[in-house]
Amino acid sequence: MRTSELFDRALGAYLGLAIGDALGATVEFMTPREIRQRYGVHREITGGGWLKLRAGQVTDDTTMSLALGDALLHGRRSGVGFDTRLIADAYAAWWRGRPVDCGNTCRRGIQRYLFDGSLQGPVNDGDAGNGALMRCLPALLATLDDDAVFESVALAQARITHHNPLSDAAVLGVGRLLRLQLQGGDAVASTVLVDAFVAAHPVFRHRPYPGRASGYVVDTVQTVLHHFAAHADFEDALVATVNLGDDADTTGALVGMLAGARCGVHGLPRRWLARLEPALVHRITEQTGALLACALTPV
Ligand code: MN
Ligand code: MN
Repeated sequence: MRTSELFDRALGAYLGLAIGDALGATVEFMTPREIRQRYGVHREITGGGWLKLRAGQVTDDTTMSLALGDALLHGRRSGVGFDTRLIADAYAAWWRGRPVDCGNTCRRGIQRYLFDGSLQGPVNDGDAGNGALMRCLPALLATLDDDAVFESVALAQARITHHNPLSDAAVLGVGRLLRLQLQGGDAVASTVLVDAFVAAHPVFRHRPYPGRASGYVVDTVQTVLHHFAAHADFEDALVATVNLGDDADTTGALVGMLAGARCGVHGLPRRWLARLEPALVHRITEQTGALLACALTPV
């Protein structure tokens, strides 16, 4: 694949993540019924929601991803490689910067790191939220062609806040599905990959779709896999996803990421792209290029 096509898909994924986050945040924690009564079908980036966002403002899903991406690039440029302590430091700095939102499990993990310097806690049933999954994109971009390195970086970044086998499986499974989209894999290849993932981890079975879109990583993955496969069009997939409400910014971010990789940046709806803040688009564009450069020039 040409580098320009890979960049187009990778940027589509990262901007798709931000679009899904910004679109979904308006209806986060609402029920589908509440969304219908208030918006009919929610399909415009308007801000608001429980976080009282500006139109186009993103939340932790996007900003923690950017923090991770910066840490990976910082490690690479300073010669220490993909260093987990740099990632933990970046999450701590992100948290000290008073982010607009921060999930409980992420906050606990960051506080544990600040307290004792440990890069992961013990395996914990309570860590099965989607907070590590939501920021899997930079780890995949930076390690694109090396699955072993992807696995070690993706799990290390995840376990700083979420040490749980369901979270681990989700991070790797969704990450590999993202990689396939970046490589131009079609719907048949995607189904083969997803079916193998579900065969290895039957808890994520999503046919028939159970219809839950919560922050529990199983609900999140089922929602994301279902809507990504059910709608070939970026906008259709995202609108169907966020109108389920609940953890809509995160399910929206992940569907936006996968569908954005599938269609590339040129396939993203222009009216949504235009809603994102220019500084954010600039930062995402720069980081996407730099992370891909890591993958294309292994140490
Ligand atoms: Mn969020
Ligand atoms: Mn969320």
